[in-house]
Amino acid sequence: MGLIIYLNGAFVPEEEAKVSVFDHGFLYGDGIFEGIRAYHGRVFKLEEHLKRLYESAKSINLSIGLTKQEMQEVVLESLRRNGLKDAYIRLVVSRGKGDLGLNPDNCSGASIVCIAAQIKLFEESMYEQGLDVKTVAIRRNNPDSLNPRIKSLNYLNNIMAKIESIQAGVIEAIMLTQDGYVAEGTADNIFIYRNNVLITPPLSAGILEGVTRNTVIQLADELGINVKEELFTRHDLYTADECFLTGTAAELIPVRNVDGRVIGAGVPGPVFKQLLEVFRAHTHVNGPEIYSM
Ligand code: PMP
Repeated sequence: MGLIIYLNGAFVPEEEAKVSVFDHGFLYGDGIFEGIRAYHGRVFKLEEHLKRLYESAKSINLSIGLTKQEMQEVVLESLRRNGLKDAYIRLVVSRGKGDLGLNPDNCSGASIVCIAAQIKLFEESMYEQGLDVKTVAIRRNNPDSLNPRIKSLNYLNNIMAKIESIQAGVIEAIMLTQDGYVAEGTADNIFIYRNNVLITPPLSAGILEGVTRNTVIQLADELGINVKEELFTRHDLYTADECFLTGTAAELIPVRNVDGRVIGAGVPGPVFKQLLEVFRAHTHVNGPEIYSM
C-alpha cells in the first residue's frame, strides 16, 4: 500500500504527490529540508528539528508560509494518516514553482512536502560490528560559499563524497574541512574518544549542527564523560580508541576502520555502548506524542 503524503496543504496518495518541473527545488536545489524520527509514538526532538528548519529558511531568505506550530501538526498528522509510531519523516520546503531563471522573486511561494515512512539506513550487522569509512578528497563546502549549517536541498557536496567512498569500496565518507581537519560524514556527525575525552568538531569547522550530535553531547555530559568540541586531524582519528557517527537516519553507529586503520580494538567500544543505551532510553521520553488525543 502506498503512502499518504502531505503536499501544499493537502494529504494525497503518493502517486498524486507531484511537484512542478519548474519548481526551483528541482531546477536548482533551492530549498531546505529536515530528516526527523519518531520512536515509540513520539517525534524525537521535533522542536529542535523545526528550529533548524526555520533557521535554514531564514538564512536562505525563504518564507515557509506556515507557523512552526502548523508545521508540527503537519508532521504529526502525516504519521497518523500513515498509522506510524516508529518512522522516518522527511520535510522538504522548496522555493516553489518559478521560471527558468534563478531569480527567487519569480517563484510563486514555497512548496511544502512531508513524507512519513519506514527506513533502515545501514544493515543491522554494521551496528554490531562497526562501519568501514574513508576520508575523501572532496572537501566539505566552504562555509563562506554555502554554510553547512543550512540544511539545504543542495547535497551535491555530500553525494560526491559518497560516490568517492563507494567507488573505494566502503559505505561512508568522512569529509575534511578546507584546512584538512575532520568535518563530518555525508549525512552524519563524527565523534572520537581519545585520551579519555569525547571529541567532536566545533560548528566553526563548517558542519551541520546535528540534532543527534547535540543530544549525544548532552547525554555524555550527564554521564560525566569529558566532552569537547574541538578540531582534530586524521592522525587523531586513526589513533582514537573509539569512533562513531551520529545522525537522525543513522542514529549512533560505530566505526571500526578508517582508511584501512583499525580503530581501537576494531569493535564497538564501551563509551559508544554506554551512549547508545542512554540514547535509546531518551527516545522513549522525548518529543510530542503522535496519538495523544
Ligand atoms: N551532517 C549532515 C551533512 C547531515 O545531512 C546530517 C543529517 N541531518 C547530520 C550531519 C546529522 O544531523 P542530525 O543528527 O540532525 O540528523
